[in-house]
Amino acid sequence: MRRNVCLIRPPFFTPWSPPLGISLLKSFLEQRGHAVTCIDLNADSQVWNLHRRYFDILQTQAGNGEVEGHSKLWLFLYAHLHSFVNGAQEQAISRALLSHAPRYDLRCDERTIKLLAEVVERLFARLRELLDRYDFTQYWAVGTSTYSTSLAPSLFVLRYVSEVAPQTRRIIGGGVFADDLALGSENLNTLMTRYPFVDHAVLGEGELLLTGLVEDKITDRLITIKSLGKTALDIKDVPGPDFGDFNLDAYFHLTVEGGRSCPFQCSFCSETIQWGTYRKKSAEGLTEQVLSLVNQYGNNHFFMADSLMNPYIEGFSKQLLERNAGILYDGYLRADAFVGAIPERVNRWAKSGCFRVRLGVETAAEHLLEVMDKKTTPKHISKALNTLAAEGIRTTTYWIAGHPGETEEDVRETMEFIKEHRDSIYELEIHPFFYAPYGQVASRLYQAVCVYPDELAELTRFREWDVRDCNPNRAERYRRVRLVSELAQSLGIPNIYSMAQRDKAEARWLSLHSSATEVY
Ligand code: SF4
Repeated sequence: MRRNVCLIRPPFFTPWSPPLGISLLKSFLEQRGHAVTCIDLNADSQVWNLHRRYFDILQTQAGNGEVEGHSKLWLFLYAHLHSFVNGAQEQAISRALLSHAPRYDLRCDERTIKLLAEVVERLFARLRELLDRYDFTQYWAVGTSTYSTSLAPSLFVLRYVSEVAPQTRRIIGGGVFADDLALGSENLNTLMTRYPFVDHAVLGEGELLLTGLVEDKITDRLITIKSLGKTALDIKDVPGPDFGDFNLDAYFHLTVEGGRSCPFQCSFCSETIQWGTYRKKSAEGLTEQVLSLVNQYGNNHFFMADSLMNPYIEGFSKQLLERNAGILYDGYLRADAFVGAIPERVNRWAKSGCFRVRLGVETAAEHLLEVMDKKTTPKHISKALNTLAAEGIRTTTYWIAGHPGETEEDVRETMEFIKEHRDSIYELEIHPFFYAPYGQVASRLYQAVCVYPDELAELTRFREWDVRDCNPNRAERYRRVRLVSELAQSLGIPNIYSMAQRDKAEARWLSLHSSATEVY
């Protein structure tokens, strides 16, 4: 039976590309004869203006300078959004957030919380206004693609649908089930017990699971691959994304995946939990998909939205050059021996259009890289950074502060490394170590403790977790975030959060590396 399905991406997710997950599901379901409408609520500029206003208030009034990045602002915002969506009273939210702010080293007073509360209220009013434009009664089901950053807005959307179209099924899926709400977690249990308007939660690859639901092969409320008794989807069977429902002028680049999952198992990562066995597309197949997207949508900029390009960039770059593709692309890359080994190889990547890579460096301390099971060394990272930079490829680097077992000496080594490689680093962003009791490769090695005080946990229902008796502790973790961020700032290495910062970063990179392509 042909079914009519609506798939929504709620905010917040970096709004530079159209949503890949729901666009792939649209292609897949429509190949099987169903009708799918995709909506991107995340592309609304008013929503992002309100988000910016919230962070501006926190930064200027609550003592968090630009320099430290946004990690703790996000965590504070989640707690606020969840409390609001759960219908908590304004005074109770204010009290709970006031007592919670010092845990993030934020200096909030009642006036600041009041300003923040106004922003949150306007944000959900705007979402309601956007949702009012659609008739959800025409769909058999409405599904949301959800990450930790979009869980509260996602629940808001599904509850709205339950009110205006009670006969329409409400489905939640997405990356949030890889870590925050991973199988076995208390947060997943909270979703299933305290949000009765969620009819189905889909954990894992949507193509098989959502199709199984739409075609009445699955009836479970909590759906995993076990519901179908199958293993992972063959990547050959995944068609290219269908972006036909979006206004593509709103995005800088298109997006596509070269593979799924990851061949590695870094201790803090949940990639393999989400996607299972690693699979990649053939170089010919991927190139064909990319060229057909360029033809269809008239944009030649791509973000490769999978975990890492290492397994396919060789074949892909050769194909792109052979076919004169003329595209520009950026994506994740592991800074390992393969990258720095043969400069001619990296030169070819650059010629094929690779203008930026995002490297999860995490640390430059050998001992800690081993603890994290990163399967690389400071020497290989150094070579990779220098080789990429020499070809003008922008190197956005991500770092982790306060991983369990990180010592003062590890931090010193990392900071020395950053100083030494300053000119080979395009951008630096450091995050405090994030812990989920289920979902990360090493989750079960630690005991969990809830970060929220009781009053706040009561309001948010979902909880933020930490490692019990973690060494280094939470305060030290944030001190290290600040230390490394300040170092980067003093060295002139940017962390880009605005167009003005990006322009500055571009000017710096182009002056450092004459081989870099002008892109923006
Ligand atoms: S951190 Fe990167 S390389 Fe490591 S498992 Fe995750 S995706 Fe793979």
